[in-house]
Amino acid sequence: MTARILDGAALARSIRADMAQRAAALAGRGRPPGLAVILVGEDPASSVYVRNKVKDCEEVGIRSILDHLPVHTTQDSLLARIRQLNADPSVHGILVQLPLPPQIDAHTVIETISPAKDVDGFHVASAGALMTGQAGFLPCTPYGVMKMLEHAGAVLKGAEAVVVGRSNIVGKPQAMLLLQSDATVTICHSRTRDLAAHTRRADILVAAVGRMKMITGDMVKPGAIVIDVGMNRDAAGRLCGDVDFDAVREVASWITPVPGGVGPMTRAMLLVNTIEAAERAAA
Ligand code: NDP
Repeated sequence: MTARILDGAALARSIRADMAQRAAALAGRGRPPGLAVILVGEDPASSVYVRNKVKDCEEVGIRSILDHLPVHTTQDSLLARIRQLNADPSVHGILVQLPLPPQIDAHTVIETISPAKDVDGFHVASAGALMTGQAGFLPCTPYGVMKMLEHAGAVLKGAEAVVVGRSNIVGKPQAMLLLQSDATVTICHSRTRDLAAHTRRADILVAAVGRMKMITGDMVKPGAIVIDVGMNRDAAGRLCGDVDFDAVREVASWITPVPGGVGPMTRAMLLVNTIEAAERAAA
């Protein structure tokens, strides 16, 4: 079997087109959506991410406010800026790009963002809402993965889903979302004994580790849907995932490429959350 490619770039394009319509509708009601993005310091990867987010906003008609603060910004001044944005009715989403410099505690920063504007879905209130099945903002990466599974026509009810990775921003929320869709979920991590024994049972396999090609062909059940969240650089500096793509595509039924899979969907879901936030505020 050669797997079908789950094209995240194409799906993200169609989501952006939908968001552009919803943004135009909000603007037509005099409530244009707005996203504030805060970058502290000069981390090169973060600068690229932030630039892309601003570009995505421009494309769909979300007004973006980019606050680029110096690397020695104090925690108190960052928190004061967040409180100002919390109170600004023209700002519907607030995103603080991580990582932050060492003098600033990321947890305190995230908890200062109003849950109503937490479009990254990292606030404890958002995590609690996800855990208890309440309305809240979903973290963009696992949310995007769910959209990709839906697009592939994956039957999640009763399916064996295995998530490799248990971070707060990817692995854990991914597992919760799969559970809410009635999959039987296993979460694996660095202390898991016999990882392959788990992955081989998976109808749905999500790899979110950060180790190049760690999911090999013999670790995948024939016909599985394989989602590769990982973003790594190979020796030549090329972006690659956690999955050995060439080997696994001969076993799986669907597979996400890297680049062009989960990455563009993560970006698209930030726009979805921002439009949602603006629509809720306008309601
Ligand atoms: P973290 O480093 O926070 O978490 C990695 C997880 O992998 C941990 O739970 C860790 O286990 C687990 N792990 C490490 N080694 C192994 C192993 N040998 N076997 C099984 N599990 C292992 O990373 P993130 O969750 O933030 O990100 C994961 C990957 O996804 C990274 O490559 C990141 O760049 C990428 N990413 C991609 C995004 C996208 O848009 N495409 C968005 C976000 C992340 P333990 O908890 O025991 O340490």
